[in-house]
Amino acid sequence: MPRAYNFNAGPAGLPLPALERAQREMLDFEGTGMSILEHSHRGKAYEGVHDEAISLLRELLAIPDDYYVLFLQGGASQQFAQVPMNLLPAGKSADYLLTGGWSEKAYEEAGRVGTVRVAATTAKGKAYTRIPKQAEISLDPAAAYVHMTSNNTLFGTQWHWLPEAGSVPLVADMSSDFLWRKHDVSKYALIYAGAQKNIGPSGVTVVVARKDLVDGGRKDIPMIFRYSTHASQNSLYHTPPTFGIYLVRNVLAYTKEIGGLDEVERRNREKGALLYGAIDANPDFFRAPVDKDSRSYMNVVFRLPTEELEKRFVAEAAKLHMVGLAGHRSTGGVRASTYNAVSIEAVRALVDFMNDFARRA
Ligand SMILES: *Cc1c(COP(=O)(O)O)cnc(C)c1O
Repeated sequence: MPRAYNFNAGPAGLPLPALERAQREMLDFEGTGMSILEHSHRGKAYEGVHDEAISLLRELLAIPDDYYVLFLQGGASQQFAQVPMNLLPAGKSADYLLTGGWSEKAYEEAGRVGTVRVAATTAKGKAYTRIPKQAEISLDPAAAYVHMTSNNTLFGTQWHWLPEAGSVPLVADMSSDFLWRKHDVSKYALIYAGAQKNIGPSGVTVVVARKDLVDGGRKDIPMIFRYSTHASQNSLYHTPPTFGIYLVRNVLAYTKEIGGLDEVERRNREKGALLYGAIDANPDFFRAPVDKDSRSYMNVVFRLPTEELEKRFVAEAAKLHMVGLAGHRSTGGVRASTYNAVSIEAVRALVDFMNDFARRA
């Protein structure tokens, strides 16, 4: 079977060279006669991989020295709780910017830990079709932090600027657009991302966080949930998800090989231009529900004239090995997730199919 054109929202496609490297190294990792899966996390072989993954991430993103890079478990959903557990002390409140289903979840979970406040929401009924304007955001200057979701996976919106938060630490859930381009890490206090959208398999969560915040985090919580525990042990406090981190290493090494994040951004912008171009060129047939300046380069959401046509579109596309195009179960429609590993060739194939489908319908 040829490789599918994989438009899944997550877990998502991985770069073929990163998978082929894993295949080559599977039974005998670097002449050790063992797979990396079978190595101790305290041994030289695994530690080499672990440290390489961290240093590649530091290099690709130009992460400043006063930030920790952590590999944790529990997904982005655990971060919804872990962020306030560490950074939201009693007597303080945290601000949340609601722009989609995941930010609602983050807000609700934080509310189980401490005091939270909605600083902006763009909810329209159950849907979100845009990012707020700065003037719509009312921040509490005394907030412990302000939380944003940089890309809204379900609704296909993305922040293309950063909210002005003054001296309040900015925390971002970047699960679905981490490394889509070079982010200026120094603008954030803490970034977290589940790996399975853009940089690896499920089971690894990346946290990039300012050292002073981590070191000064709450100590009245269990050891395992303190960022400082993991930071002081280089994410080797307990057994990390070794195979997942190994695959993240492969993806990052490949990313560096193709020219780093500038090249990744160039490709992602070209993919977005192709898809939104096809939608805008045929407004009688395709409709993008998202405001133009809030459009996501990672999840391209669009509607067809009827739900019946949408079903047929997704089914016919699947016959051409284009998978994962059905919209989220709560929103319907069509969603093409075009994460870093989705090739320009795959997007061209999808655009050809869209044009052909519209002509026939
Ligand atoms: C997928 C996703 C999550 C949930 O990630 P899990 O790893 O499944 O917990 C959270 N936030 C965003 C923006 C996502 O895209």
